[in-house]
Amino acid sequence: MAKICLCLTAKTIKRNLEVLDKYRQFVDIAELRVDCLNDDERLSIRRFPELAGLPVILTIRRDIDGGYFTGGEGVRVKLLARGLAFANENSRLNFAYVDIEEDLEVPSFEEAARTFGTRIIRSYHNLDGIIDNIPAKIKSMQRAGDEIVKVAVTVNSTADVMKVFQAAKTCADRDKVLICMGHYGGYSRILAERFGSFMTYSSALSETEIPGAPGQLDVQELAELYRFRKITKKTKIYGIAGYPLKTSISPWFYNTIFGLENADAVYMSFPTDSFNDIMELAKALDVQGLSIAVPFKEAVLPFLTKSSPAVESIGACNTMSRVREEWFGENTDCSGFSDSLLHFLGKKNLKWQKITIIGAGGVARAVAAEVFRLKGKVLILNRTIHKARNIAVKYNFRWGGLDNQGAEMMSKYNDIIIQATSVGMEGDDAADPLESYSFTGKEVVMDLIYTPSVTPFLKRAAFTGCRTINGFDMVIRQACLQYAHFMGREIPQQFLSRLKSTGASTWNRIRAG
Ligand code: NAP
Repeated sequence: MAKICLCLTAKTIKRNLEVLDKYRQFVDIAELRVDCLNDDERLSIRRFPELAGLPVILTIRRDIDGGYFTGGEGVRVKLLARGLAFANENSRLNFAYVDIEEDLEVPSFEEAARTFGTRIIRSYHNLDGIIDNIPAKIKSMQRAGDEIVKVAVTVNSTADVMKVFQAAKTCADRDKVLICMGHYGGYSRILAERFGSFMTYSSALSETEIPGAPGQLDVQELAELYRFRKITKKTKIYGIAGYPLKTSISPWFYNTIFGLENADAVYMSFPTDSFNDIMELAKALDVQGLSIAVPFKEAVLPFLTKSSPAVESIGACNTMSRVREEWFGENTDCSGFSDSLLHFLGKKNLKWQKITIIGAGGVARAVAAEVFRLKGKVLILNRTIHKARNIAVKYNFRWGGLDNQGAEMMSKYNDIIIQATSVGMEGDDAADPLESYSFTGKEVVMDLIYTPSVTPFLKRAAFTGCRTINGFDMVIRQACLQYAHFMGREIPQQFLSRLKSTGASTWNRIRAG
């Protein structure tokens, strides 16, 4: 079972101990990052294992490896020696592990560490990218059988993550830690068990002034939300594939329900640059179900063995569930959208309503199909006009571009306006897809984005008196339907209610954007 290591990066020993005490229940091992300590504090590291009361790693990370130590190697070795000096026969009073970079050669020091039961973590960091032959690297780094090899590389694509995963399989017999640093590889930290890692490094993010390493997860989130300690080789993996996927609510939604149900399942974000590569990885990791996010709702279609009638007619899929080697595609955006809008309006259909859909991507296709089914009269506008046209001709809608002419047309289709582009999402939150349209104040405006909870477009609409709704209610509704496809059962109502109440703080944080 992989262990949770808490990376301690405070400037003082006292503060590190405070942080450790606060999160102790989630932690198996602590890493004292001596490079983050103030100079005078570095002189007092020897007693840290005794004060910490759990196994501690002694690490002095150089700046070239992503740490903060800028002194010479002589000083660093002396500090390492200080940490291991006066070794006690009671090994719990010594550092349990010492992190030594692969290029550091101090045999006498290593010998002393071994004599007193301090295990060596032989580490290699590459902040720029991965290396060609990771298995060969692992084998060459391990100088003695009891050493733990740590390879931490920055992954710049899903293909890079795949290479690390394959290396993990090749070197399954060795104690090691394989870390994919950076946005593309966050899940390698949650799936440390699958990546054959001895432990996963985490941080107490809300307490940390100095970040430990890029992509480290919060220790409490790792332990409580992802239930890291329960993840075994049998745990069923689900996730969301998309890009950039920085603010998806889905990991919170699914993992909270899995926790309440005590299901042997975990859900995580799979940010990817290539849908083909994420499908390869999903196969290798034995992923059971995927939510599909921006921008892959159409790209996913060739990977489906079977599609629901909704996927067939809409031409977009947001839910892939796996049965043995086959992937079944469903679209839950449609019902999620229409249930949310009709509930907001207090209506059963959209008869007589003149509606503009802004956007012609994956979700706009689902919206168009539903608005057509509910008998609305529709104009569809998009930056790439031919995509708006493709959808419009299918349903006998009107179409146009995101320009003055489009804004002009929109003033005749403005009972309801549905913003279905990704413009205004977090990271792009200053943007408005159609600034040239002036709201009258009578429109009902739905923006499908939910992070931030109020986009500039929605803000502008609300300012003039329009009734507005964001995409939060829709995303929860579609996720409930998706859950049923993944798990073959509905979410028990009492768990859904508890999710809404116990998760109120996360809910509000997300709503607040
Ligand atoms: P998608 O397939 O990637 O489509 C993106 C859409 O945004 C296209 O219409 C694209 O226009 C437009 N767009 C992107 N950048 C633009 C820019 N700079 N200026 C003008 N238009 C731009 O994405 P999707 O899956 O349809 O999702 C779209 C949005 O809906 C996302 O923000 C997503 O979070 C949200 N959504 C919400 C829910 C929910 O449950 N609340 C569900 C699904 C999606 P072009 O065709 O010209 O590229």
